Formats: sequence, structure tokens, C-alpha cells
Amino acid sequence: MSRSVLVTGGSRGIGLGIARAFAGRGDRTAVTYRTGEPPEGLLGVRCDVRDTASVEAAVAEVADRQGPVQVLVANAGITRDGLLLASAEADFAEVLDTNLLGAARCVRAVLPDMLRARAGRIILLSSAIGLMGAAGQANYAASKAGLLGLARSLAWELGPRNITVNVVAPGYIETDMTQNLTDKRKSEIRVLIPMRRSGSVDDVVGAVTYLASAGAGYVTGAFLPVGGGLGMGS
Ligand code: NDP
Repeated sequence: MSRSVLVTGGSRGIGLGIARAFAGRGDRTAVTYRTGEPPEGLLGVRCDVRDTASVEAAVAEVADRQGPVQVLVANAGITRDGLLLASAEADFAEVLDTNLLGAARCVRAVLPDMLRARAGRIILLSSAIGLMGAAGQANYAASKAGLLGLARSLAWELGPRNITVNVVAPGYIETDMTQNLTDKRKSEIRVLIPMRRSGSVDDVVGAVTYLASAGAGYVTGAFLPVGGGLGMGS
């Protein structure tokens, strides 16, 4: 059955791969984008997840054009790396505002329709770094660890209404976000990966589409790492 799916930050990278996978399965799929043109073949809605009014307007536009959101993938995220002592508080705040509060804003905006429908799937994109931590990524790790607390609290709040909330935690995936890492840092990370290689967008897509599938109807509050074993057990 075709569903109404919204993927935030779906203009490129992991979000775009996820959106294309849902659309390929016949779901009516929308992505948020901030600048430029939306990707072809998907409903693009302009949205900055740091702005509540922008999120609410985007969710309303999606509901209007393809029906109330039934599957939300909160994927938009940024990094502003730097040692805590050497970095600006504004960078820390921006990372939390985008990665953690941004996801919470999107959930709030889709909830009224999901509660009315007594059904819904919410998937939050965290990171292996959220549990492992990493030097120079205190802000990012804090935001991504926060998503786990958010998801598990929401699993309690929304479980009785048949809405599942789960977390996917990619490891090291080749996208624009990881392109800027130095070769030295890339080799350091590879040593920490039991499978000794980076992952692809498709590896993450598989986890997200599973959590949105009928087969995952009784899975909520889960933390699903997709990192070739990176951070296993942390
Ligand atoms: P990219 O940098 O390639 O893409 C990030 C996306 O988020 C872009 O579409 C961007 O839109 C959007 N975005 C950023 N800020 C905002 C905002 N304020 N409002 C709306 N959209 C915004 O990242 P990836 O595809 O690599 O990562 C996707 C998610 O997966 C992120 O949450 C990331 O933290 C997580 N992740 C990625 C890993 C990796 O190795 N790549 C590892 C672990 C987790 P725009 O282009 O308009 O700025």
C-alpha cells in the first residue's frame, strides 16, 4: 500500500538514497531541501529544521500534496567539528539545534496526524559516534546520543497509539559529510571497523526501509547500528 513518507535533508547523501528507495517501492515520498532545486521525481518542500514555522509549513504542504505523513525519517544533520575548548559555543548550539531539536520539531509537526490515524513510523538518524564519542566531535556526539533518549521516551509516549520510534546509527558512510575527513582520520576510523571498510548509502537504506516495513511493526525504541561493527557493544 502506498504511504506518505517525509525524509528531512533528502536533497543529497543518505537522505536522498532513503527517499529514492521509498519512492521506488511506490510510496508517495517528499524530501526537504534548503537551497537549489529539489531532486527530480520527488516532492520537494523547502524547510530549515532549525525553524519551527518552516517545519510546520513543510509538513502541512506534504499533507496537502500527498496526504498526512505516515512515515517520518528525520535525517537532516550537520557537523561542526573541533575540540570543545577551541570551538565556539555558537557551533555547539547550531549542531544541537539542527540534529537534536530539529528532529524533535519534525516529530512534533507530524504527530497530530499520526495520533489521529493511530499509526505511524518514525526513524531518527543518529550515529555510531553518539555512543562511542570522538575527540573533536563533542557537539555532534551529544546531539546524536540525545536522539536515543528522545526516541526511547517517544517509544513510551507513542507505543499505545501504534506509532513506532526507532534509531538508525550509521558508522562511516561515504557522503559529502565524510568527504572532508583527512586521509589520516579515514585510516584511523577504518581500523576501528571490524569489516575494515566504509559503508554505502544503500547499507543505511536497508535498515531504514526495514524499520518502516510491515515486518518491523512490533519494533520500537530500538537502536540499529549500521557500521560494519564500528562501536559494537558501546
Ligand atoms: P550530508 O551532509 O550529505 O547531507 C545532510 C543533509 O542534511 C543535506 O540534505 C542538508 O541539506 C540537510 N540539512 C542540514 N542542515 C539542515 C537544516 N538546518 N534544515 C534542513 N536540512 C538540513 O550528510 P549525510 O547524508 O552523510 O548524513 C545524513 C544523516 O546521517 C545525518 O544526520 C548524519 O549525521 C547521519 N550520519 C552520517 C554518517 C556518515 O558517515 N555520512 C555517519 C553517521 C550518521 P542542505 O544541502 O540543504 O544543507
